[in-house]
Amino acid sequence: METGLHERDRAGVQDFVLLENYQSDEAFIENLKKRFKEDLIYTYIGQVLISVNPYKQLPIYSDAHVKAYRNKHFYEMPPHVFAVTDNAFRSLIEENRGQCVLISGESGSGKTEASKKVLQFIAACSGNQTTVEGVKDKLLKSNPVLEAFGNAKTNRNDNSSRFGKYMDIQFDFKGAPVGGNILNYLLEKSRVVAQMGGERNFHIFYQLLAGADETLLQELRLERALDRYSYLTDGLNGSVTSINDAESFKQVQQALSVIDFSKEEQRDIFGIVASILHLGNIGFNEVEGNAKVKSRDLVVTAARLLGVNASELEAALTHRTIDARGDVVTSPLNQELAIYARDALSKAVYDRLFSWLVQRLNISLQAKEVRGGRNNVMGILDIYGFEIFQKNSLEQFCINFCNEKLQQLFIELTLKSEQDEYRREGIEWIPVEYFDNKVICNLIEEKHKGIISILDEECLRPGEPSDKTFLEKLTQKLSLHHHYVCHEKAPAHIKKIMLRDEFRLVHYAGEVTYSVNGFLDKNNDLLFRDLKETLSKAGNGIVRSCFPEKELRSLKRPETAITQFRASLNNLMDILMCKEPSYIRCIKPNDLQTATIFNDELVLHQVKYLGLMENLRVRRAGFAYRRTYDLFLERYKPLSKSTWPNYKGPGGSKAGVQQLVKDLGWDEEKFRVGETKLFIRWPRTLFDTEDAYQA
Ligand code: ATP
Ligand code: MG
Repeated sequence: METGLHERDRAGVQDFVLLENYQSDEAFIENLKKRFKEDLIYTYIGQVLISVNPYKQLPIYSDAHVKAYRNKHFYEMPPHVFAVTDNAFRSLIEENRGQCVLISGESGSGKTEASKKVLQFIAACSGNQTTVEGVKDKLLKSNPVLEAFGNAKTNRNDNSSRFGKYMDIQFDFKGAPVGGNILNYLLEKSRVVAQMGGERNFHIFYQLLAGADETLLQELRLERALDRYSYLTDGLNGSVTSINDAESFKQVQQALSVIDFSKEEQRDIFGIVASILHLGNIGFNEVEGNAKVKSRDLVVTAARLLGVNASELEAALTHRTIDARGDVVTSPLNQELAIYARDALSKAVYDRLFSWLVQRLNISLQAKEVRGGRNNVMGILDIYGFEIFQKNSLEQFCINFCNEKLQQLFIELTLKSEQDEYRREGIEWIPVEYFDNKVICNLIEEKHKGIISILDEECLRPGEPSDKTFLEKLTQKLSLHHHYVCHEKAPAHIKKIMLRDEFRLVHYAGEVTYSVNGFLDKNNDLLFRDLKETLSKAGNGIVRSCFPEKELRSLKRPETAITQFRASLNNLMDILMCKEPSYIRCIKPNDLQTATIFNDELVLHQVKYLGLMENLRVRRAGFAYRRTYDLFLERYKPLSKSTWPNYKGPGGSKAGVQQLVKDLGWDEEKFRVGETKLFIRWPRTLFDTEDAYQA
């Protein structure tokens, strides 16, 4: 194990502020690489934890490790997710300050694993009365359930979260967890009906087919063979070596029981999952332009599982009723539209089932009585990082918008808190320059002028709005904006790589080209009224509550997808803004999910997207290094006669440290004396001191 205060070890520096060549990308990457090769996956930038996915099990998460990190000063131990958690946990209990752990990084970088370690640490070191054990058990068991329904194998990650998640854990005044609450963001529901080559649908479909016993399969009219189901045959046929679906299904069932889902609820849940598989197999013929269901049996089975009338479902899949100010007109759909309606139905049912699950989990996790007060909450955010794909659509636009907002939060909370510390400690400093991405947030979300408003306007406009007219409006209104690039006005080298149906945004983390194809359709998120009506009367209780009748009766237009997303993001920002943040920045070392490769170029990209170089620059611009007087004196007191074995003069450890640095002959420029801490400007100063100490 690395020892705590040895700031510089054979495997690079454990805090980037100690990196001498701190402006150099190469030096940064080199340090991460050195440490990765030694299985030292964690490194700090001040209080920010960088975590490089090791892609192998490391023996650093045992109970002994939990113990070793419990109640230790942050810098006393080597960097670790446990240190960050302990630090946050103690601020929560001792200072009664709400906390949040913000985990970011691209797909496969280890966010979800990190969030589980945070939970593990908290569960291991907080109270153990039976009631508390019950709460912890539920908190821990919510993970396998959410992962079964919200995760899938992708080409980047065999267990990729396809939704964003924010989880609050609530503590009582003694620091024992008493409840929790989960918020979910933007499930990638298009996966229910189609997957890319090499990818799978959500885990639960495979788990159900592999793990259900014969009776359940019978009841759901399912067969084990995956290739029987059209929704499962797009991407990858069959199983993945890293995944045991049958075993996972048992865990999910067990977890559902622990979280006290009733037998009926469990039956309804699996009924819905099965109904979606059957829906996917419903094909249509076209007779004189009218879609006709090919096999009525499938409709009957799906209808039975959802608890709806089969004839009504059949009619709803092949017709569309439009209620134009009291004029009700029903017209048949053609084959293409019927397929569209069927897939929209499957997506909507699955998406709402997922949200229902989260709500249901929350009911179970709700604190029975709250005695700690509102502040005793620790949040954990595990949300998609910045995404740049070959083709970027509305989903990437939402995700990247989310990252812009999180960057705003970072600026607000971290850069501000850095300044606050200097103020608190009475230290003079010159504020450092950084890029404020507010201008990009505004470009996206400003009322009436931003991209979201323009998109919504186009979606609601009468006439024939299309993706193309949307793009025209964007260009018309935004072409002068510094962060918006349209095809017409793009510089030659960009124009070459842009298509006519694309626009490009200069995000804080880099430039992304978005294809407007499908923007309107996805934003309208249309589910034909006939289907909603059918589902609102369903015998399956979950389905019925997911499609409430009042939604049908409402005269208001349903909110567009992006408007809902923006509202939930702003709500999240409000929640986070009043908390003290801890940051975990996750990095994946390669694209192959292997432990042996560290791809410099790939890592550098992520370092840039995560804004780590700027983070370091800001941290270094003031004072690279700071320690409380007690800690500093304890370590370095052997270096002077006046402090060894103990400083006996007046003024306590602060005076002791002042005496010590005087004896060491430190130059005034090198350090500042704060209220409670010694601030050191350059790491070299510390290295020299450390070398003297070693000698
Ligand atoms: P996504 O955005 O796709 O959900 P993610 O950032 O949540 O990705 P994880 O699912 O946490 O990524 O990690 C991907 C895989 O990497 C894990 O399934 C696990 O195999 C491995 N992994 C991640 N972190 C660790 C760790 N600390 N120790 C060992 N293996 C890890
Ligand atoms: Mg994840």
